[in-house]
Parts: sequence; structure tokens; C-alpha cells
Amino acid sequence: MPEISRRKILHVDMDAFYAAIEQLDNPGLRGKPVIVGAPPDKRGVVSTCSYEARPFGVRSAMPSRTAHQLCPHAVFVPVRMERYAAVSEQVMAILQEFTPIVEQVSVDEAFLDVAGVLHAWPDAVMLARALKQRIHSRLRLTASVGVAPNKFLAKLASDMQKPDGLTVVPATEPEILAFLAPLPLTRIWGVGKRTAEQLAAAGITTIGRIQQMTEPELAPLLGQAGARHVWRLARGRDDRQVETDVEEKSVSAEVTFEQDITDRTIMRQTLLELAEKVGRRLRRAKKSAGTARIKIRFRDFRTITRQCPFAAPARSDRDLVHAALSLLAKEKLRDPVRLLGFGVSRLTDTAAGQSGQTQAPLFPEWDSAAPAERHAQLDQAVDTLRERFGKGIIKRGRWQT
Ligand SMILES: [Mg+2]
Repeated sequence: MPEISRRKILHVDMDAFYAAIEQLDNPGLRGKPVIVGAPPDKRGVVSTCSYEARPFGVRSAMPSRTAHQLCPHAVFVPVRMERYAAVSEQVMAILQEFTPIVEQVSVDEAFLDVAGVLHAWPDAVMLARALKQRIHSRLRLTASVGVAPNKFLAKLASDMQKPDGLTVVPATEPEILAFLAPLPLTRIWGVGKRTAEQLAAAGITTIGRIQQMTEPELAPLLGQAGARHVWRLARGRDDRQVETDVEEKSVSAEVTFEQDITDRTIMRQTLLELAEKVGRRLRRAKKSAGTARIKIRFRDFRTITRQCPFAAPARSDRDLVHAALSLLAKEKLRDPVRLLGFGVSRLTDTAAGQSGQTQAPLFPEWDSAAPAERHAQLDQAVDTLRERFGKGIIKRGRWQT
């Protein structure tokens, strides 16, 4: 059977994200029905509830008062958006470790296009499994993942076996049609309650029924554009791309330590590795940076950032590492550190003379090039080797500062 597409798209969706973070941060809440949102005595709604609250009928966007009636022993906790955003950043950073093509669609959801990185994996399912494991081992949170040939199917799939699910949509057209056929119309992207009711009035209640119809038959019910949209999705057709930030405005990387640290040697080593990682991504994007910054988060989640401009647009590891370590050196750190980050911004296209060719020779005519450019060229040659043969192949000497 022909594959309808060679694309491999993952949709990653964290499970009961806010409630799971509350249970993570407060062990007393684990195993209990937790409702994140307005307290029941106030006018307001449920933002997220833990899986323990769901059998009682509690759902997102429901008035808190109703939720309290359904589940009187539930613990209500207020929304702590800053904390969720911080964890979200960590989740997204983990996804970036698998592929640079990540489209974040909300605080706890993203699409990944992994077709270009599958050579390093037995298949997309193994990659998805590793991704779930990495999120769990680093953050102690679970994600549900859908693997499919396109975004529409991947998103449907991630929702099918929550929590901690991994659902794979088959890649051939007959299998996709069979997978979609029994599902209700509201599973089609853009078909809300109202449209579903209109279609139900015409005797159409499943995606399978739409599959038996033609586009012109649907048009009187949905309009021409609507008919086209619904007809295509009912057949599992969707060629939207996974869109990374169109113009990347900054590149950054960060790491959360298993245990809070006070040892500056470890901090320096960590920043060095982060700066090299950022450097690789910067050069791959054929960009140079105008500003460097470090981010330090302490044990109590207080977070500081410090930045400095580069004297000239920078893209070599040497310049990035130097900036990162000098920014760190200026900080007096009284409290233990739980997270370190390094990033660059004010990105510009690397000028034509500073060739961004990936085929750069390992030993170019360095004598004619400026010293900073020489470093960037060596870095790029190393990047190419690493991409071809794996990261372990070259260990760079440690930078002196
Ligand atoms: Mg979610």
C-alpha cells in the first residue's frame, strides 16, 4: 500500500499540566483531586484539574462553584502562571534536543517535524518514546504524544490515550480512513458544536459519513471553503508545515540541575557547554549575534538575567563562551543555583564574505581571514563533522578565560 506521506510529525501535549506541576511542587497534593483555578466561593472557572478530579466530572472552563459541587473534597489552588511558564520553557528545551523544527502552540503543547532526524533512530515511535522518557526523567511530568504523517492526525492521536499516552497513526491512506471513520465530527479541526449540530440535522454524525460524501455535496451545508476544509481533514489530508519561529530572534539553551549547585567550576563548565550548543544552532541558522545573556535561577525560583553586547557580531564558540563566562564572573552568588541558561539575540544574517557554507573546508585559507572569522570557520567545520559522525567525535580543548 502506498504511503500517503513520508512526513513524520509529533504532537506533544503535557498531561493536566498546571495540576501536575502543583502536585510535583507540593507532595501533599499527589494522589488527590486538585483543581487549579478560582476558589469555589468566588466567581471564576477551573483552569485545569488533576486526573483524580476527572471521574467526578470536573473539566476545564467549568465554573469553580460547579466543580466544588461535583467534587467537594477537591483541593483548590490558585494559578501560578510564572511557574508554569518556567516549566514550559524546560519542556520546549527538551523537545529542541530532538529536532530544531519545533512549533510551540501553547504553554504545554508543540508540534515537531522529526523526518530530518530519523536517521539517528530505529523509527519515529522509538524517538517518541525516548522523548517521553526524557521529559519524565528530567521534570517528573508526563506527556502524551501522537505520531502521524501530519499535524491534524498527530494532534488527534496525542489526545487518544491520555495521560502518558503514545498513539501512532498508520501511514497508509486506507488505514487512516479507517482510523478516522468512527470519530465524531467535533474531532475535525474547526468543527465546533454549532457546525456539528447543523451536520447532525442533515444526518451526518461521524467522520466516516463525510468520507462517503463528495465536496460538492457538502458545500450547501458548509459553504465552499468550509466543505473543502472538512472534506480534506475527514480523509486525513493536511499539508500544513510545522512552523518554527519564522525569523528567529534569539537562540538559547538552558539546563536545570538535578541538585541545586554552589560550585562555580560546575557552573562554568555548564555555561561553556550551553554556549557551544547555542553556537552550533546560530551557525546552522547562518546568523551572528549582537548580544549575549545568561540566566540564573536560584533555589527559591528567583531568576536573574544579565546581558552584554558583543563588540562585533559574533558567532564563534570562543566569543560566545567568553561572554558567558565573563557575565557569570561578575555575579556574586549567595544562593544555590537550580538553573543556568545562555542565549544570544539581536541576530543578523552572517555577511556574504563570512561564508555560511556547510561545505567549508576544514583548513581554509585562514591567513587571509580575520581571527574571529577563523574561529567561526573552525567551529563550522567541527559542526559539520559532528553532524555527520555524531557529537562524541570531537572534544574541543577547554577555553581559557
Ligand atoms: Mg495539555
